[in-house]
Amino acid sequence: MSKGVSAEAAGRIEAIVGAKGIRPAAEAQRYMEDPRDRFTGKAGLVVMPDTTEDLAEVVRLCGAEGIALIPYGGGTGVVAGQLSLDRDDVVILSLERMNRIRDIRADDGVMVVEAGCVLENVHAAAAEHGLQFPLGMASKGSCTIGGNLATNAGGIQVLRHGNARDLCLGIEAVLPSGEILRELSPLRKNNTGFDLRHLLIGSEGTLGIITAATLIVKPIEPEVVTVFAAVPGPAEALALYQGMRRQLGEAVSGIELMSGFGVGLVTGHFANLRNPLAEPSEWYVLTELAGHAGLQDNVEGFFGEEIEAGRIADAVLASSEAQRQALWDLREHTPEANRLTGAICSSDTSVPIASVERFVAETHAALAKLHPGLRVNSYGHIGDGNIHHNVFPPEGVTKPEFVAATPGIIEAVRMAINEVTVACDGAISAEHGIGRLKVNDLARYAQPAKLNTIRAIKAAMDPKNILNPGALIG
Ligand SMILES: Cc1cc2nc3c(=O)[nH]c(=O)nc-3n(C[C@H](O)[C@H](O)[C@H](O)COP(=O)(O)OP(=O)(O)OC[C@H]3O[C@@H](n4cnc5c(N)ncnc54)[C@H](O)[C@@H]3O)c2cc1C
Repeated sequence: MSKGVSAEAAGRIEAIVGAKGIRPAAEAQRYMEDPRDRFTGKAGLVVMPDTTEDLAEVVRLCGAEGIALIPYGGGTGVVAGQLSLDRDDVVILSLERMNRIRDIRADDGVMVVEAGCVLENVHAAAAEHGLQFPLGMASKGSCTIGGNLATNAGGIQVLRHGNARDLCLGIEAVLPSGEILRELSPLRKNNTGFDLRHLLIGSEGTLGIITAATLIVKPIEPEVVTVFAAVPGPAEALALYQGMRRQLGEAVSGIELMSGFGVGLVTGHFANLRNPLAEPSEWYVLTELAGHAGLQDNVEGFFGEEIEAGRIADAVLASSEAQRQALWDLREHTPEANRLTGAICSSDTSVPIASVERFVAETHAALAKLHPGLRVNSYGHIGDGNIHHNVFPPEGVTKPEFVAATPGIIEAVRMAINEVTVACDGAISAEHGIGRLKVNDLARYAQPAKLNTIRAIKAAMDPKNILNPGALIG
């Protein structure tokens, strides 16, 4: 039954945040959308506070009234953590008006930003000071720092710079009690009890609402070299990565595996994009290195030797920023090409790097066994052991037709990938989190000791279960 949020409660919230800070759910459809078109969210009200103090007051009011709150950043989360799927008596708490860059301190190597800052805007603000914030992903134009931290996002530079967690020195957050935790100091050493920053990072809005963060920024390096290369398979892609590390040191900031099938989907859907290599290949890598002056020559030399030795078939080095962007466009348009092609499953699991080859081979075999016509685009952050499989219906069959004709196929595909992941000693969520999509998977695969501790922490911090109920632990 639809209950919504009462007009009386909405009025009291409006008295805190003002008319600009509130929107009836009926006029706020975009907050109900899923980036992969699988779910539609529900809500009674969308609230957009402008300050941490107002946000804390809203939390206190909702706590007293027993109204649940769902933190919302850019809405790019792909596990439905930001969507209420089964109840409309909730407030969507959007951080979009809290989007100020509070401070940039080059000497401390940090910037302090509000949680609603869009990642791309953080990149631009850092660049104005000759600095970089090295967290990168295809959703950078919409996702926010709050969402990045709440999901402990990964992306394309994890190899060298780590996940969102590794790039955050301090946090400001509103706890379920309505108290404000102010820990924005840029300390590199701080052993004063439990590190609540790390408890909140990756908690997917279930333990607190992140309102600001102190982020690590680094100097922009003089040379950036981007290479797109044809490789025989995942094993050779990893060997290439290990070779680069041996010869070129820590300069490798990212290495992405791409399948020939996936590159074909991207160039098929986006007429302005093309594969720069003359001969087709079953697999490619896109890699980027950054470092001292002269790096470009060293990278050229390395790839020349790899081609001469027959370890890779061909490679192209970007010779301008436009070419570099064109290469990254091939990778960054992959999620959208998958969506347009009608993926029935988009996995996000990780395995130890040494098991990537086995993981790819065994998942492909398991999927072929489920249905011989399934098509699979395997791609992603191979240097982190985080390969995404996007699985499509057989050629010529639409997603709705296939799903109707093959009941249970979506779940069967997901479980087949999970089982191989676990057999390879991997994690059933690598970088996207648990959200509402993987609650049952977490309950199934997590050790009881871990699950019990997560539940105990949640109960202690949020005894009324008002923050993002239904996410992460159900
Ligand atoms: C095209 C595409 C590419 C992507 N590529 C990557 C990738 O390479 N790596 C990767 O890790 N992810 C990727 N993602 C997933 C997504 O972009 C990330 O999970 C991102 O961090 C979510 O940020 P957001 O601001 O959109 O959060 P939302 O989607 O709004 O929310 C995500 C979760 O965080 C919580 N939350 C949001 N803001 C706050 C806050 N201020 N305080 C507390 N909780 C909060 C929400 O309640 C929800 O549980 C991709 C998504 C898309 C659509």
